[in-house]
Amino acid sequence: MSILIFLGPPGSGKGTQAKKLAELLHIPQIAVGDILREEVRAGSEVGNQAQAFMKAGKLVPDELTIEIVRQRVGREDCREGFILDGFPRSELQADALDQILSKGGRKIDQLIYFKIAEEEVVGRLSGRRSCKNCGAVYHLKYNPPRTAGKCDLCGGELYLRHDDEENIIRNRFEVYEKQTRPLIDRYKKAGSLVEIDAAQAIDVIFKDLTGTLAIAKVP
Ligand code: AMP
Repeated sequence: MSILIFLGPPGSGKGTQAKKLAELLHIPQIAVGDILREEVRAGSEVGNQAQAFMKAGKLVPDELTIEIVRQRVGREDCREGFILDGFPRSELQADALDQILSKGGRKIDQLIYFKIAEEEVVGRLSGRRSCKNCGAVYHLKYNPPRTAGKCDLCGGELYLRHDDEENIIRNRFEVYEKQTRPLIDRYKKAGSLVEIDAAQAIDVIFKDLTGTLAIAKVP
């Protein structure tokens, strides 16, 4: 059983690393941002409630994200563990997560903090491109698709997320500093947090990550 939590500012690369690690460990990556974007695309009730907050780079109300996580981690495929990417992002979410896990007789095994400065994030996110169809993520400089503008996996169209535009990125970073950063201290005090330098190349970060988790099989 491995329950891993990835924390860090937007653009710190936690999603990219979570995907790679989830594949290696054969456990699901639960990215609340991806689930919310899917709900918005589907035009669901949750999607309609979340949309305006996401566009502005603000946090979606806690009740919504907590309910999403409660349902998702209760599913069969999470029995052997999971990686939570982008949750918790507030004190209330952290409290709710503790409750959800302890009710199921589970606990967080490891928290990973992806540390990176704001200026680095702005540079990164403005080069990020996401697939409209399957959500795969690329970077014009660091991880370009084989054919410009097209997803390697499904051929879908690549686009710049509205919330990856510079003014919104800066807003998201501010939201992170105010609402999410206090969690880093909370988990540091609890002694369960490992810090990773997220301003490195994707493969270097992945080596650090797997080394930290003492996973022998690094591809
Ligand atoms: P992300 O893809 O993780 O950058 O998330 C995109 C957007 O989804 C965020 O800017 C928030 O509006 C929303 N979101 C994702 N995760 C959470 C969360 N744990 N709590 C509240 N809002 C979230």
